[in-house]
Amino acid sequence: MTTFDTNAVHGGYDRAANANAASVPIYATAAFDMESAVRGDRLAAGEEFGFSYSRVTNPTVDALERRLATLEGGEAAVATASGMAAVSFALLAAAEGGGRIIAPIDVYGATVDALATFFPQFGVHADFVDDINDLDEVEAAIRPETKVIFAESVANPSTRVTDLRPLADLAHRHGLPLIIDNTVPTPYLLRPIEFGADVVVHSTTKGICGHGNALGGMVIDAGRFDWSAGRHPQFTMIEQVISDERRGVPQSFASLFGNLAFIRRVRTKYVRTFGAVLSPFNAYQQLVGLETLPVRMEHEVASALKIARWLEGNPHVAEVRYSGLPGSPCHALAERYCPKGVGTILSFRLDGTEEHLRRLLDSTTVFTYLPNIGDARSLIVDPGRITHREVPGEFRRRAGITDQDVRLSIGLEDPDDLIADLGRAFAAAYGD
Ligand code: PLP
Repeated sequence: MTTFDTNAVHGGYDRAANANAASVPIYATAAFDMESAVRGDRLAAGEEFGFSYSRVTNPTVDALERRLATLEGGEAAVATASGMAAVSFALLAAAEGGGRIIAPIDVYGATVDALATFFPQFGVHADFVDDINDLDEVEAAIRPETKVIFAESVANPSTRVTDLRPLADLAHRHGLPLIIDNTVPTPYLLRPIEFGADVVVHSTTKGICGHGNALGGMVIDAGRFDWSAGRHPQFTMIEQVISDERRGVPQSFASLFGNLAFIRRVRTKYVRTFGAVLSPFNAYQQLVGLETLPVRMEHEVASALKIARWLEGNPHVAEVRYSGLPGSPCHALAERYCPKGVGTILSFRLDGTEEHLRRLLDSTTVFTYLPNIGDARSLIVDPGRITHREVPGEFRRRAGITDQDVRLSIGLEDPDDLIADLGRAFAAAYGD
């Protein structure tokens, strides 16, 4: 099974090991019989893969992890309770112990807030760059304490595209890993590991789940980065949890797991300690959602482009931001990295007052006003007041997010019904 579409349905699941159940079963159990004292010891030491306690790993969650690792072209993955848990754990694992993170100013609101105001409480600091595709600006931000470069492959809500290949090369020249949040395009449209990314994170709440009915996150490791080269001492320090004290064998994550040190540390230290583990029920919903990812994406991307074009001709719209549109600033990058489409979200800037914006948001009936993306239902929201509310005004200005911005997430409805809904809402807002 080699193609993406086939792996989206079958990848990572061993039917024979699961009573030949066609659909991945939900393992609703907190713990598993370890069978023997010898096996229990090996499981606890991480020497043998298996299930003992669902805060560490669970078969339903494991199937989702394996499927997404396959779809992203990674070696291994760890699921988390939400996208923010995946972003936070991946970044803290890389920068742990007082490091610095380089990130663009236009990342998702809660990520900006974490980097700018919360992680510093743990000794982890951020250096924000205005343009992640300006390699001179990124290189100038690299310091001896820098531990990782982070970016979103396609930014939310602007759909700016990150030029991954040269950014990965720059990071690697400096001994740094590149971590990419690939939530917006999903692996169907873009696979950052193919362009040099070392770790990919997701909010699986969005397009991967696809129906807005289950939170989740994922950290996927390409298994290529050498975490023992010196910049990341947390991977070479001796850890009791994986050492064999009785036989006098001290181990670090790098000595025991080699190039999988990162993903093993995320599971063993972050998910196991902070406990933000994905529930098997949510994993099941996301496995079902993943089966239809390719067909949903095809439909939604085509609709998003049609709606973006319609908005371009609307007299009350000052600017449409969708990198899939020819003439948009990132169109060439979108064609290079996402030839099948840049994603299912787009945004536009209203030419009008606060009152026009409110009336528009209150007048749609097919679009639902809520702060999510990647749902089968089409969604509308004002990022400046809702999804990016926690972002300081100065950051929002630098990221180009204004109070007149509207973000759309395009679902599976007929695009003509969506355009008609927007048309009625504009008419109600402007009285024309
Ligand atoms: N990353 C991106 C790009 C997002 O858009 C979001 C949520 O909107 C997140 C991370 C956080 O995901 P979650 O809401 O599942 O925690």
